[in-house]
Amino acid sequence: MDDVRWQQIPENRRAESEERLLNSLSKARAFLFAIGQAVDNEHGSRILDLWSSAGHRIGNHTYTHDPLSGTTRPEDFEAGILRTDPILRKHAGFREWFRFPALKEGNTREIRDRLRAFLTLHGYRNGAVTIDTSDWYYNQRLLERMQAETNFDLTRYRQPYLRHIWDRAQYYDSLSREVLGRSISHTILIHYNLLNALFLPDLLAMFRSKGWGIVDAEEAFADPVFKRQPDTAPAGESLVWALAKETGRFEGRLRYPGEDDIYEKALLDRLGL
Ligand SMILES: [Zn+2]
Repeated sequence: MDDVRWQQIPENRRAESEERLLNSLSKARAFLFAIGQAVDNEHGSRILDLWSSAGHRIGNHTYTHDPLSGTTRPEDFEAGILRTDPILRKHAGFREWFRFPALKEGNTREIRDRLRAFLTLHGYRNGAVTIDTSDWYYNQRLLERMQAETNFDLTRYRQPYLRHIWDRAQYYDSLSREVLGRSISHTILIHYNLLNALFLPDLLAMFRSKGWGIVDAEEAFADPVFKRQPDTAPAGESLVWALAKETGRFEGRLRYPGEDDIYEKALLDRLGL
């Protein structure tokens, strides 16, 4: 679960949402990849303590969340990782795992390899995502709609959101079976936001009802697939996507970016959400 931008949860719903986010995981232990800037304050620090106490792990997600693409210089990107490290390290759940913002790992092989070496030097591993999603966009639409229409029925987002997650899980799992010859322990990308405060229990129940199991994030990361470093440029996206891309055999089935708002907009417009 990424970002921990608790400031974006509307204030009148914040306390309840934060409690739900933490409690809905029950015994499943997640990895919370925090943006330094978002948690470099008393409230953020408290969230990380609460999650640590519940057995969850905390990982590094840069200081500003500027992706390693476009105009971000690799030296600034690295400085942001080092700046965030001591902010997170004081929490018991902290482990040296890093998640690239927007799953962008460098536009060129040179930058990609520089960051791989940098992370290794500092004892970090890449907290790769295998099931990428656009939950952040569903959340953005929900927040906009709430603001425009105070009494809008937010439960209308539930089915489309669950369908999106299930659809993406099916896609990336079938891709992993084809590329690797097996299903893997997946890591799914979702965010610390109002959308998941509302629907995470339903999301987990959906996976269970369809025969999937929920394992601790650390157990999932122990799958040897997370040691793979695909040779692709631009580097990043879902790990399964990148492994497929590397083979050159799946071109017709690999859109770029793997996930984005552009793929979801028409559906949400049509549903009036
Ligand atoms: Zn993020």
